[in-house]
Amino acid sequence: MARKYNFYAGPSTLPFEVLKELEKDLVDYQGSGLSLVETSHRSKEYDEVHFSVINGIKSLLDVPDDYEVLLLGGGATLQFSMIPQNLLGDKSSVDFVVSGTWAKKALADAKLYAEANVLWDGKDGAYTSLPSPADLKPNAESAYLHITSNETINGVQWKDFPESDIPVVADMSSDILSRPLPVDRFGLIYAGAQKNLAPAGVTMVIIRKDMINRAPEKLGAYLKYKTHADKDSLYNTPPVFPIWAMSKVLKWIEGKGGLEGIQELNSRKASLLYGVIDNTDGFYNCPVDKDVRSHMNVVFTLKNEELQDEFLKGASQRDMLGLKGHRSVGGCRASIYNAMPLEGVQALADYMKEFAKKNG
Ligand code: PMP
Repeated sequence: MARKYNFYAGPSTLPFEVLKELEKDLVDYQGSGLSLVETSHRSKEYDEVHFSVINGIKSLLDVPDDYEVLLLGGGATLQFSMIPQNLLGDKSSVDFVVSGTWAKKALADAKLYAEANVLWDGKDGAYTSLPSPADLKPNAESAYLHITSNETINGVQWKDFPESDIPVVADMSSDILSRPLPVDRFGLIYAGAQKNLAPAGVTMVIIRKDMINRAPEKLGAYLKYKTHADKDSLYNTPPVFPIWAMSKVLKWIEGKGGLEGIQELNSRKASLLYGVIDNTDGFYNCPVDKDVRSHMNVVFTLKNEELQDEFLKGASQRDMLGLKGHRSVGGCRASIYNAMPLEGVQALADYMKEFAKKNG
């Protein structure tokens, strides 16, 4: 089967081995005569998968015992409002770092429930940089400090995280499980699945246990973290298919040497592309500060914008898809999540060099 290289930002490429295993098991799950997606979520079969995911995340990320791993629906977008609704407690303000499109969305929802102090905003630099974590001065009176570990559209990624007396809450939708993480520096981490975890439909939340009970009584059951924590994320029917797929993705990551192995591979992939961008005499340009360039979403422009369509067309003819930048920022973007093989990135790097040589 001819498989194309998928550089889409999300939903995005999944490991080929995982897709093949799902295909094999989809109709008849391990000889049970049923598919797992038509089996009760209270069955022994599903139970095994469900807890293998929760325990797999704990083990890969070395999650300390005083944290809970939750598997929810609603995408990362639901977390934008669930977080302030649950975590404000007796506080009335939250702190934000506005690093790009996704931080802005999280901020807009938080403002519905709390006063928001913007500690840093990358607007003047068109969201191509980040503050130094040590320079941030969170307000002691705020319920938490929100950051976005990787801006999927702008291509900026935190390389180190703030240490703060108030809990740090991080949207890690587009770089979760791409590198080892000091989980104990965070109060809450959340991530939609469709980049590094699984097909869309499940959202992972890692929450410090002491923050689970801050929600007001008058909040719908689903919206309370406590509801899910008390029932091991089986309060209602969980998104069975993406959780099942995630169980396979987690094993695939283990097979790559865990998060250290994956980080090493991701660095090699990112270096290949940034290397081409920086060494083609300005034919390509990455607007992002070198020290915060994303290893997941590599954004770049062509000096001669008129060549962009031809560049994208040529890429597509070579079976490389999804390289057009987000409509809000233009340019090009190569999303090279965990499951993008090194060969795919090498093929893109070779094509970029060839295109620059021909048109430079
Ligand atoms: N945060 C980030 C960093 C994202 O990249 C995305 C989706 N691209 C979201 C949040 C929203 O995620 P969802 O579509 O799962 O709600």
